[in-house]
Amino acid sequence: MIVNDLRPRGYCHGVARALSIVKKAINDETVVKPIYILGLIVHNKKIKEAFDYYHVISLEESGKTRVELAKQVIDGTVILTAHGVSPEVKTILNERNIPYIDATCKDVYHVHDHIKEHLKTHEIIYIGKKNHPEVEGALGISNEIALVSNLDEAKNYQKRSNKPIYITNQTTLSVFDVAFMVEAISAKFQDVTFDQDICAATLNRQKAVIEQSEADLLIVVGDNLSSNSNKLKYVSEVQTNTKAKLIETIDDIKIEWLKDIKIVNVTSGASTPTAVTNEVISFLKQFDYNKKETWDHVSKLTHLDILS
Ligand code: SF4
Repeated sequence: MIVNDLRPRGYCHGVARALSIVKKAINDETVVKPIYILGLIVHNKKIKEAFDYYHVISLEESGKTRVELAKQVIDGTVILTAHGVSPEVKTILNERNIPYIDATCKDVYHVHDHIKEHLKTHEIIYIGKKNHPEVEGALGISNEIALVSNLDEAKNYQKRSNKPIYITNQTTLSVFDVAFMVEAISAKFQDVTFDQDICAATLNRQKAVIEQSEADLLIVVGDNLSSNSNKLKYVSEVQTNTKAKLIETIDDIKIEWLKDIKIVNVTSGASTPTAVTNEVISFLKQFDYNKKETWDHVSKLTHLDILS
């Protein structure tokens, strides 16, 4: 079996920065403990588990907004995640005298800046996934921003003012989905301005999947919650007709997927630790369906490997 290690893959600059901020805060005696993170610092449960060892408290995000999570904190220091937050979260923390460290990615702030620049002059449409923390942060800038999450919503969009329309988007979406939604809105209304704000890390990883699509299978190593990892799988299946599997670790591999596979491509989301992907690649390189002794795929990584 040929194993292609697609590049680029793995940590983007925003994730690398966020992780280094948390590591520094753990060892910094001037940072008031405990350290809280509003949700996951980046969308990868392995990283969350590794930080658990250092008593970093990642507040449970299931169904809760960042605003609700911020209200839970009564002491210590908060680290704002790479996805960014709405201004209200910062206000809540300031009112409670809770210090915070901002690990928001600069590409997310770039979108916030675009929204603020056009707020007075335009009717703003933000293309993003409902309930995603990055979307909560962007929509929290103003209650006049309309969220469009799929093609149907784009086709049925009703204007709410006489202002021209300005469109921007969540950084980690599929470039094709966004283009279709913008096209649908532009077909209905005149005076539409669009800034394509998918970040370079997401774009380049999607491009690598499309350009190196000569494979029977693509394995995407990434968390189920990770938007950019899910989009890599989606782009492979929809744009290149190559079946794809999203796995969080080597343990998730099903041996039957590999039967009759001659070429497998491997990529990973922008928040996947390199050690996790390398373990998958090493397993695949030695795998032979006809030799059962090559089938063992239990992760041996420790929290130190994950954070290395
Ligand atoms: S995926 Fe893009 S927006 Fe998200 S942290 Fe990485 S560079 Fe920033």
